[in-house]
Amino acid sequence: MTIGAGLPSYDVVVAGAGPAGAMTARELARRGVRVLLVDRAEFPRTKVCGCCLNPRALAALGRTGLGELTARLRAVPLTGIELATCHRRAAVDHDLGVAVSRESFDAALVDAAVAAGAEFQPRTSARLIVGSSPGCSRLRLNGEGRSFEVAARFVVSATGLADSLFAAGSRTSASPKAKLGAGAIVAHPPAGFQPGRIYMACGREGYVGLVVLEDGRLDLAAALNPVAVREAGGIGALAASILGKSRFPAVPRVDALPWKGTALLTRSPDRLVESGVLRVGDSAGYVEPFTGEGMAWALTGGEALATILAESISGLEDSPAARWSHVYRTRIARRQLVCRAASRALRTPWMTRTLVRCLEYRPSLARPLLSVMHKAP
Ligand SMILES: Cc1cc2nc3c(=O)[nH]c(=O)nc-3n(C[C@H](O)[C@H](O)[C@H](O)COP(=O)(O)OP(=O)(O)OC[C@H]3O[C@@H](n4cnc5c(N)ncnc54)[C@H](O)[C@@H]3O)c2cc1C
Repeated sequence: MTIGAGLPSYDVVVAGAGPAGAMTARELARRGVRVLLVDRAEFPRTKVCGCCLNPRALAALGRTGLGELTARLRAVPLTGIELATCHRRAAVDHDLGVAVSRESFDAALVDAAVAAGAEFQPRTSARLIVGSSPGCSRLRLNGEGRSFEVAARFVVSATGLADSLFAAGSRTSASPKAKLGAGAIVAHPPAGFQPGRIYMACGREGYVGLVVLEDGRLDLAAALNPVAVREAGGIGALAASILGKSRFPAVPRVDALPWKGTALLTRSPDRLVESGVLRVGDSAGYVEPFTGEGMAWALTGGEALATILAESISGLEDSPAARWSHVYRTRIARRQLVCRAASRALRTPWMTRTLVRCLEYRPSLARPLLSVMHKAP
């Protein structure tokens, strides 16, 4: 089939090289598909994230032959979570996966995609050209002083919360109660934060999670009420206030850290598939990060989408869009309901207090919920 005569042509162009995009590109390349992966960032790059890969994310890596990757990166095994409110502190021991910095993890996944045969263009942003049609999409790529067009049978949007592939800007809509994400890294963590534990400070205005990374740095990731951020005078001030009221060791000068914010969390795309573009990862829909599921969805989504596209390209699948919608609905969207319920409960201060109080006395109460969330699909 001739796609976009005269233009550099690919079977699939994947925009965005986070876990969703890199996994999609690698799995396509492993099946012999001609795939171009582009990202507007230079790699390695940082990303606002709690940096915890849960057992479902690890299972996805294992299924795709990347089971050794986290050990190679010296990811820290996570053996439990500590929850704190202003009066209470509870500890739950459970296998929660591993902690690894997004700089290392995302760059390693991109390397794996390239090793499998994917072409990678960093520092290059992609934009869909209006008039593209299913079966022959055109994209404008801009980067490194060059601007050029490419053609592809399929385009995958793995652009994260930005959903910036479409010229009209973000096509996703945030729920009115959505929080904003924020992150910062402390080079030398204060005493009292143990490697292998997730620390979660829960306040009325949001929560701040802390975890020690493989290189000893402390990762801070927060989901905060945007109105409370404004009232407190900024992300750092609100995070400092939530942490200050918790019963965790003090983190000095939290308000002065170089915090990075994200777009509002909990978004739903208008359409999962549109004009030959298939969305995956955060680009396909997102809920608040309390349960640490985002990368598991990104990786399982990338794995499943690559299978569907590869089968379509080799003539074994007639309706890739319909099949992707079905797979997404049954394997990912349904599971997101559990996380939505958890984050809704944690939005209510009395529910958070009650939960932490119950777990303080009976930590085992958390295990059934954690087991459901981390179960393989
Ligand atoms: C505060 C917070 C804490 C979190 N904690 C956890 C956690 O502990 N565990 C967990 O599993 N998940 C967590 N998440 C969620 C997790 O970060 C995301 O779900 C995950 O990164 C989604 O991966 P992705 O590949 O879809 O998108 P991303 O990782 O966001 O990657 C998108 C990529 O697309 C690129 N891009 C964007 N637009 C374009 C364009 N037009 N052209 C080219 N490139 C483009 C960007 O540069 C970026 O590299 C957290 C999120 C937040 C906000």
